Amino acid sequence: MSQIPDVELGGLYGDLILEHYRNPRNRHPVAEPDLEAHEFNPFCGDRVGLKLKLDQQSRVSEINADSEGCSIIQASTSMLSDQLKGKTLEEISGLAETFRSMMGGKDTPPESLAKLGELDALQVVRRYPVRIKCALLPWTALEEAMQEYRTRAG
Ligand code: ZN
Repeated sequence: MSQIPDVELGGLYGDLILEHYRNPRNRHPVAEPDLEAHEFNPFCGDRVGLKLKLDQQSRVSEINADSEGCSIIQASTSMLSDQLKGKTLEEISGLAETFRSMMGGKDTPPESLAKLGELDALQVVRRYPVRIKCALLPWTALEEAMQEYRTRAG
């Protein structure tokens, strides 16, 4: 087992990340989800599971987000789950694209960044390149779930 130093988080963004880590959102179970995904990152033992239920307008009405592992995966999963309610899968794909672009250090339009809400705090993780995968893992799970759902829906 390699020892990975934990991320040192300070400042406004760090406080927000730690707050989500300590009080993760949307942990309650969702019965008969429309979308479901699990991802695993063996590098630091991160696991994430997401379950989403859609309403008749195909907007997310219920979310179950469950993660274990490092502080970043847990905070990222909680923050992501907080942003999904009421959104269509199309809107969520847009968010995923913006988030990946921000984490990749690409030029991202401020109006797109504004849509990320608290998720923009995770940009501090860019200082720890090995942790970027932790921040992206719930999005990878979500994108796979959406892909699978679209395939199933034809
Ligand atoms: Zn991790």
